[in-house]
Amino acid sequence: MSPDPKPTRTALVDAIRRAARQEQFLKVVSAAEARRRFEARLDRTPLDGESLPLAAALSRVIAADVIAPIDTPPFDRANVDGFAVRAADTLGAGPNTPKRLTLNREVIACGIAPAVEVASGTATTIATGGVIPRGADAVVMIEHTELIDDGAAPAIDVHRAVTSGQFISYAGSDIARGETLLRRGTQIGSREIGMLAACGLTSIEVVRRPRVAVLSTGDELLQPGQPLRPGGVYDSNGAIIAAAVVEAGGEAVSFGAVADDEAALEAAMHGALESCDIVVMSGGTSKGAGDLSHRVVSRLGRPGILVHGVALKPGKPLCLAVIKEKPLIVLPGFPTSAIFTFHTFVAPLIRARAGLPVEAAHTVTARVPVRIPSELGREEFVLVSLVGADGGLIAFPTGKGSGAVTAFSQADGFFAIDALASALDADSQVEVTLIGKSERAPDLVIMGSHDIALDVVVGALAERGVRARTVAVGSLGGVSAASRGECDIAPVHLVDAATGVYNKHLLTPDLALIPGWRRMQGFVFRPGDARFEGRTAEAALQAALADPAILMVNRNAGSGTRALIDSLLRGAKPAGYANQPRSHNAVAAAVAQDRADWGVAIVPVARLYGLGFLPIAPEHYDFLVVEARRERPAVQDFIDALKDEATRGRIRALGMEL
Ligand code: AMP
Ligand code: MG
Repeated sequence: MSPDPKPTRTALVDAIRRAARQEQFLKVVSAAEARRRFEARLDRTPLDGESLPLAAALSRVIAADVIAPIDTPPFDRANVDGFAVRAADTLGAGPNTPKRLTLNREVIACGIAPAVEVASGTATTIATGGVIPRGADAVVMIEHTELIDDGAAPAIDVHRAVTSGQFISYAGSDIARGETLLRRGTQIGSREIGMLAACGLTSIEVVRRPRVAVLSTGDELLQPGQPLRPGGVYDSNGAIIAAAVVEAGGEAVSFGAVADDEAALEAAMHGALESCDIVVMSGGTSKGAGDLSHRVVSRLGRPGILVHGVALKPGKPLCLAVIKEKPLIVLPGFPTSAIFTFHTFVAPLIRARAGLPVEAAHTVTARVPVRIPSELGREEFVLVSLVGADGGLIAFPTGKGSGAVTAFSQADGFFAIDALASALDADSQVEVTLIGKSERAPDLVIMGSHDIALDVVVGALAERGVRARTVAVGSLGGVSAASRGECDIAPVHLVDAATGVYNKHLLTPDLALIPGWRRMQGFVFRPGDARFEGRTAEAALQAALADPAILMVNRNAGSGTRALIDSLLRGAKPAGYANQPRSHNAVAAAVAQDRADWGVAIVPVARLYGLGFLPIAPEHYDFLVVEARRERPAVQDFIDALKDEATRGRIRALGMEL
């Protein structure tokens, strides 16, 4: 909701009031209470069945028990190539005491109905899969016989005795007619398809997949593929929720993104309710738009809104409603909040209606090495990366806010901080609920400063089958993780203020240093900015310091770049100094978008954003290796990958020196 370009004073104040109205309409309840109210008004039984051809039934849920209509195998069947015999005739047969049997004038291949009875003293040639003829009760393997062809009627010598039933699969031994072949609620995989086909079935009754409408709202939203405009963001919720609906067993029906306009939103919601079983919408829930979605939902029908506001972080502005028997959920717009509340409140409902069983939560115990402050009165969920250490698992908060798209996808799991706690103390043990497929633990843990060329090394490791997990915690975070033995390798770029030498001062007897590459740091500005263009970095800096209208963008304390900036500024704090984003990219974006005029960043990032660049000094990006873990194969693979010429070439191509 943006005010007019030139609003009158009252219009502007109104817009400010609306924007700042915040969450006054929320009547916050606990997550458990929210679920109770919602579930009390919902039909959670599986939807009706529909008949599908086998070929289309993969991954669907069986709606009714399937009773086997025939026996499989349908007849007594030979399991080996050989001769159908009466077992009693082979009694005492051995290598030196063969038993001779005359061969019947019949050869039973697969698909042949036998005509000749196996009488005592005779045998019939039979192939694997052939029908056991009348009179026979065992099969002798061809390897244990010798063909006798001496002019008289053909015969065999049997060199090994068989017992009754040997090498025979009896009718119905695999599937017995009348038995329950598959139970309702079973998800159909290739094995189930095979069982149904073996019984001659061509179709199967499956639970109809709930049709779930997915709808986004926000004036700022663009569909992927459209050009990004200032202030615009891509509608990622629409895509991730549609995919999560399918993962939960539903059929996603995309309604795209609707502007923050009550009439348009109401029309879209009516359409969605008419054609779908469940409506999931995101956005229009937080302060900016006031209670737009809530206002529209409250007019749609009875029983209406059951919950608006849950004491849950992320996810407070969640709205749960039922309109004429159909659930309608408004998820918070922030991507992590949206997907978190989707998995908590919506996915279980879709699974239930799709006939799928309740998903069991998998948890592990882990130690959280840092203190985490938490808001009193809200149950807070913290997304974490899990890392194996000598003393068990360690859970690191991913540290990205609820606005992050990647927080949920990069996390291994989450744990809850009680609503009544104001913080979680460092080194607490927590129960982490795992998210998604539990992959095997990483072979190598890299914690510290992140760099785009590090992705090249990690990619080279992946090609060798080594799974590396990188956790971006900054150089200083990497140093402490390495000294606590929580990682194998810590990428760092910290200059020693006293000597100007990079990284060497971080060494301890427990840590070794492996040289990485150098990244040229420089003064970045918008190309064509005459105040800086064509100057040296030093001259540009002097020009910047001389003009109070020039705005800088700084870096966060603890970063290597910040140390460099402070040494250049020699105590000066020019306008913009307090703006301290946490990455080279954020610095470049601020300058490119005119929110600042200059900053310090590395050359590959300056290039990526099309910025002017005046070199200052190369920064050394090296790797601390925990000595105790140095001999681990994955650490050796990492060191090898760094030496590999192809990898080095790719790192150079990104603008690094090595
Ligand atoms: P809202 O609930 O509409 O106030 O949105 C809160 C935040 O989530 C804003 O930063 C929105 O830009 C963002 N947001 C809302 N909907 C989406 C979406 N569909 N995809 C990505 N971000 C969104
Ligand atoms: Mg919005």
